[in-house]
Amino acid sequence: KESYFEKEIIDINIIPTGESETQLIGHVIMLHNVTLFKELDIAKTNYIGTVSHEFKTPISSIKMSLALLNNQKIGQLNPEQKQLLDSINDDSDRLLKITGELLNLAQVESGNIQLTIKPTDPMGMIQYAMDAIKTQASQRNIKLQLSYHDTLPKVMADSEKTTWVLINLIANAIRYSYDNSTVYVSVEQIDRTMKFAVKDTGIGISDRYKNKIFDRYFRVPGTLKEGTGLGLAISKEFIEAQGGSIGVESDLGIGSTFFFTLHL
Ligand code: ADP
Repeated sequence: KESYFEKEIIDINIIPTGESETQLIGHVIMLHNVTLFKELDIAKTNYIGTVSHEFKTPISSIKMSLALLNNQKIGQLNPEQKQLLDSINDDSDRLLKITGELLNLAQVESGNIQLTIKPTDPMGMIQYAMDAIKTQASQRNIKLQLSYHDTLPKVMADSEKTTWVLINLIANAIRYSYDNSTVYVSVEQIDRTMKFAVKDTGIGISDRYKNKIFDRYFRVPGTLKEGTGLGLAISKEFIEAQGGSIGVESDLGIGSTFFFTLHL
């Protein structure tokens, strides 16, 4: 399926024709010039990447200003003012999550996931992720419980992308759990792989949707929490790009365990 033209992108379809498989008359070759579509697609992907990148800086500085106000360094806040600040902070977190997802989506869609794989301490990534998400958990009185073996070897990983996946899985576990519950994070070595798992006792996922939730934009029908349906699709791409695998075990109404493995 090589392109005949130098700078054009051509979709080529070769269709055998005849009365039956044994009476082949010939082939119909269909050439479809998709250059414009591809160019527009690439431009759109680049645009999404640039815009989400530009969004990140102002949202981060809004969060920094909020933290200053919240620390009461600038003056005492009354309860109504505090509640307003918390609500602005939640909305900023949501915006940051969406821009992060769009930025990563642009990278995944361009087919150009840039990895820096090196021996990485698994506990460092988990600690960072748990730290990043602890306020979200405490707001709903959800406990984060970590279990691990004392001496874990390093794992071959892109630290930034793997940490992003961990944050995403823990954030989901919190979002789709009930208040006052516990989210369990664990890591264990199994032969030449490291298995990371995030377990919740939340709403769970029925069998018919277990595979679909890793598709882009898919959300289980009736899901009440806000979201984009992108986190798990990007997580899957990030883990598979590192040679690992990702999956879920879940029972509706009982809870879910999301896990992924990476090589040592
Ligand atoms: P988002 O959560 O933004 O919708 P995700 O790609 O992270 O996007 O998840 C896709 C869907 O999978 C969610 O909309 C939800 O229906 C389901 N899901 C993900 N994580 C969980 C979980 N821990 N428990 C129950 N359902 C989940």
